[in-house]
Amino acid sequence: MPSIQLYDTTLRDGSQKEGVSFSVVDKLNIARKLDELGMHFIEGGWPGSNPKDAEFFDRAQKLTLTNSQIVVFGSTRRPKTKAEKDTNLTTLVDAGAEIAALVGKSSDLQVTRVLETTLEENLSMIADSIKYLKAQGLTVFLDAEHFFDGFKSNADYSLRCLTVAAEAGATCLVLCDTNGGALPDEVTLAVEAARKVTTVPLGIHAHNDSGVAVANTLAAVNAGVAQIQGTINGYGERCGNANLCSVIPNLKLKMGVDCITDAQLAMLAEVSHYVSEAANLIPDASLPYVGGSAFSHKAGYHVAGVTKWADAYQHIDPTQVGNQQRVVVSELSGRRNIIYKARERGLDLPLQGKETQQLLEQVKLLESRGFQYDNAEASFDLLVHRAKPDYKPPFELVDFMVIIEKRRRPSTRKSTEEMLSEAIVKVRVGTEVMHTAAEGNGPVNALDQALRKALLQFYPSLAAVKLVDYKVRILEESVGTESQVRVLIESSDGVEEWRTVGSSTNLIEASWLALADSLEYWLLKHKASDNPLAKS
Ligand SMILES: [Zn+2]
Repeated sequence: MPSIQLYDTTLRDGSQKEGVSFSVVDKLNIARKLDELGMHFIEGGWPGSNPKDAEFFDRAQKLTLTNSQIVVFGSTRRPKTKAEKDTNLTTLVDAGAEIAALVGKSSDLQVTRVLETTLEENLSMIADSIKYLKAQGLTVFLDAEHFFDGFKSNADYSLRCLTVAAEAGATCLVLCDTNGGALPDEVTLAVEAARKVTTVPLGIHAHNDSGVAVANTLAAVNAGVAQIQGTINGYGERCGNANLCSVIPNLKLKMGVDCITDAQLAMLAEVSHYVSEAANLIPDASLPYVGGSAFSHKAGYHVAGVTKWADAYQHIDPTQVGNQQRVVVSELSGRRNIIYKARERGLDLPLQGKETQQLLEQVKLLESRGFQYDNAEASFDLLVHRAKPDYKPPFELVDFMVIIEKRRRPSTRKSTEEMLSEAIVKVRVGTEVMHTAAEGNGPVNALDQALRKALLQFYPSLAAVKLVDYKVRILEESVGTESQVRVLIESSDGVEEWRTVGSSTNLIEASWLALADSLEYWLLKHKASDNPLAKS
């Protein structure tokens, strides 16, 4: 196989995805990650289009990169102007990068209908622009925009754009499926045709509007392209770009193209996650290779298989891409899921035990009531413990009351309205019953405060535990305000995080269940030395 160069455009094309806006610092941090991953080229942005990208190039000059080169993106000169006078081009030189990716039209209809110039002038624009940048000392890649569409309407012209760019000194000719409408067979034919007219290395830049950007990219590799452009997680406008998190492992693990090292490949899931966090998007669990569900098993039948042979239902060893096998506990679960999950959590259960059967039934019952344990491992651990006949919970709720009041309070200047929440909690610890009250900025907060007030008297170390995230989801099965609600709570003690779940038709009760689980889990896990039950 030919050697392949990886070209990442997450920072430019990827940032075109709706809802994504990277700060300059985000972009610099992502560039460092991509460098560690072994990306050969990182397209930083289009400095002519916005000041943020200009600042990125300014600061990127101070980045110390081991594997990657920064590329600046821009377009060919405007029609009927001189290259050296065109700000499109002069800003590229000013950016200070050594390589420029220059987008030029390579479809006849785009030239006449959109650019509104002649086919000859477009060829001059490509040639002049490349020659100008070369004369300024830059290496130039041509992004042949709309190449595959152009190849269908007027193949000779699209190929002519490539040969003109090659003669002008372009180092790589990147064939772009700008509208994402091509299919793999069409890509193969067009790449083969391009290879016949030039010896300059080719590249592929595929958009995913037909859902085949990754397939098109791999087809192009088989047809002989040397440079692959794409984005992390497939981010990009409309339906996105070719997802490098799929392309790279396909190349390396399936096609024998050694584009990055084994150690770099093992960072892939982390990089994917990192970029989604920077983009402030929830990581897509169903992404191939890197998603949280990519190697998870839910059906009991599959779990029975992977328990016997890890590869029974997976196409690669997930650790190769830094991911892991995961067994999902759900209402579809068989007994083995429960045992596997419990073992994964460090809890041992006998395969044929009555406890396991009871636990399975308990999980099914609770899931039918809206609980879900996929993302609430701490609540799952508690279920396992509670299934044991000798389990003694560190505390038990006797009852609680929450008061919410909207009050108009006259003040010196003008009357103000305020919402008041107060909770009264009765909790049993050992043989003692504690009765506490607390106010909060909302009913859940008041409940949390009152419960802590009671428990801190027995377990002072519980003060380290904080609630860090609180999510409410209305479950689809029911309608309107009568809906079943599921509450997911994430807690932290500064060292580790854990998640718990509660479900009820009452939001306060669902919150209480998740909250109580959170504290019970921590007390159980730490068997706090101040735990009066642990002492006994
Ligand atoms: Zn693009």
